[in-house]
Amino acid sequence: MCDVSEALLDWYDIHARSMPWRVMPADRKAGVRPNPYAVWLSEVMLQQTTVAAVRAYHSKFMTLWPTVSDLAAAEDAEVMAAWAGLGYYARARNLLKCARAVVADHGGRFPQDHDALLKLPGIGPYTAAAVSAIAFDAPSTVLDGNVERVMARLHDDHTPLPAAKPVFMDYARRHTSHSRPGDYAQAVMDLGATICTQKSPACGICPLRPCCAAQAAGTQADLPKKTPKKPKPTRHGIAYVARRADGAWLLETRPDTGLLGGMLGWPTTEWGDDPAPAEPAPAQWQTLNDAARHTFTHFHLILQVRTAWLAQDARPSRGRFITAEAFNPSALPTVMQKAYTLAAATLRPL
Ligand code: SF4
Repeated sequence: MCDVSEALLDWYDIHARSMPWRVMPADRKAGVRPNPYAVWLSEVMLQQTTVAAVRAYHSKFMTLWPTVSDLAAAEDAEVMAAWAGLGYYARARNLLKCARAVVADHGGRFPQDHDALLKLPGIGPYTAAAVSAIAFDAPSTVLDGNVERVMARLHDDHTPLPAAKPVFMDYARRHTSHSRPGDYAQAVMDLGATICTQKSPACGICPLRPCCAAQAAGTQADLPKKTPKKPKPTRHGIAYVARRADGAWLLETRPDTGLLGGMLGWPTTEWGDDPAPAEPAPAQWQTLNDAARHTFTHFHLILQVRTAWLAQDARPSRGRFITAEAFNPSALPTVMQKAYTLAAATLRPL
């Protein structure tokens, strides 16, 4: 009989990837406990983002705000600026809400209980399971894209995602270790990320090979099956990139709700099929030949870029001026950085 949990843990003891927020298996066995704040921060950042991209952001946040209380006390704008470039900005807004709830309702300590974690802002079933398993060694089952792939292949299950999620969760639950749930959660995710990869699973060096039905059937490359997605629509908009005579840039903080909510950016029109112009100030607006293109989860965006110099006494209807010295393009979300890169050459000081 093949013991998936045991095989995975034996493999993880040797091959665990070192990560700033991770307690390695030998240290864990020696009694070192993870920092729940660092684990929670990593799990929020890792949603939709690779480990490679998250490392630098995680270090930056841990340096700026070493505890959940420090983060809870931070200015919203500082946190949004530190998050810029990581994408999916609702995560940053929820991060702050969650930190403040942990301080207000739990005395600055993350609750250990899965259900209590689930009640915190921005913590869904996956993150609650990951934090309770990894930070507190609770026997919670994690199911992310990596784990779904491993489960589909282990069981040679051709049910398409997302309909297959409850079935894959059931498999994952059956394999979850009750003696080392935290290490198990990280082991199965590591295996999916490094061995049982989407494009070319390395079955030859996989510790689960003796247990794997898809490998035996030769179907691993076809799994998991997925219900075809509808093609993404394309939306259009106009970004207005303007400088005042003294070099200050005109920016606005986007509304808290909606895409890029709470982030600093250029004033734009609505994003749609053919949005009406919405200049933030009367000026000689120049349309650039190139547009800023960006793909969000549900649509592609083509943002036409218009630039202008504004008089020193200009009174824009939207946004606020930020001096050239205080302006930091890296504090903008990626699509706004793209518009800046296109516009900057036409707005050099005269
Ligand atoms: S044997 Fe291959 S398909 Fe099966 S779990 Fe391992 S890497 Fe994935």
